[in-house]
Amino acid sequence: MPLVASKEILTKAHQEHYAVGAFNAVNMETAQAIIGAAVDERSPLIIQVTQTTLKYTEPDELAALIKVLIAGAGIPIALHLDHGRTFEVVMRFLKLGFTSIMIDGSLQPDGKTPRSYEQNVEVTRKVVEVAHTLGVTVEGELGTLGQIGLEITEELGALTDPDQAVQFVEETGVDLLAVAIGTTHGLYRGKPVIAHDRLRAIRSKVDIPLVMHGGTGTPDEDVRAAIELGIAKINIDTQIRVAFYDAMREVVHKMEAAHEEADRRGEPKKYDIRAMLGPARDAMRACVAERIRIFGSAGKAL
Ligand SMILES: [Zn+2]
Repeated sequence: MPLVASKEILTKAHQEHYAVGAFNAVNMETAQAIIGAAVDERSPLIIQVTQTTLKYTEPDELAALIKVLIAGAGIPIALHLDHGRTFEVVMRFLKLGFTSIMIDGSLQPDGKTPRSYEQNVEVTRKVVEVAHTLGVTVEGELGTLGQIGLEITEELGALTDPDQAVQFVEETGVDLLAVAIGTTHGLYRGKPVIAHDRLRAIRSKVDIPLVMHGGTGTPDEDVRAAIELGIAKINIDTQIRVAFYDAMREVVHKMEAAHEEADRRGEPKKYDIRAMLGPARDAMRACVAERIRIFGSAGKAL
């Protein structure tokens, strides 16, 4: 099945009141885990890459790998750029055949300093004009998501304003809107407070699929309530990293014990990268499958 635009996947989700997970891939194992889980669950999928991954690997290498996996999957999948910060970065990913793009115009390219509303509209509209000629979906962001090391202040605007959201969608032509409703990137310290009333107010005025970032650690009942109120795309990144870390730590502990035993017996120690990454990949796959079921998209790819 060829790549599809995320608008196609999310319009159906929006109409039928479920959400599709957008999971971050950084290498072969994460991509295999994410796509494998979606295939197992017969779920539509958004697999995404952030621009900061460019510091780790070339985007064309990663995109080529993901596309091979997608080609054999047999379910609708969109390939999405998560948090593109500049027009130039977005163009680079469009050239690689991404079918969905986020332009995060809420912050400056440094990812910390806020852009003004006018600056956000300007960069977002510019991206929409190009992306739409290619049939590519565009996600914009209004309001400021919580983030580790970034305190929400008055200046940052914090939660998304419903009236401004209407204006933003009209002025930019975005297909999807990421809203700030109290969720935070990274891990929460304590229980998050999700502003369901704010989400309801936004939904009553804006009729495009809404996106929740900072999905990791948001209690399942809050996630379900948010989906009922119009969230159709939920980004999950940290939860996959935690699953990887926990599995890897267990593998390393077991290997250390086996090495000590080998030393005692005077036998050579064994090292096998596949035996280390395999269990971590399985743990990530189980984590993604569990999220897919919570989001209600399991079985929707039939
Ligand atoms: Zn995000």
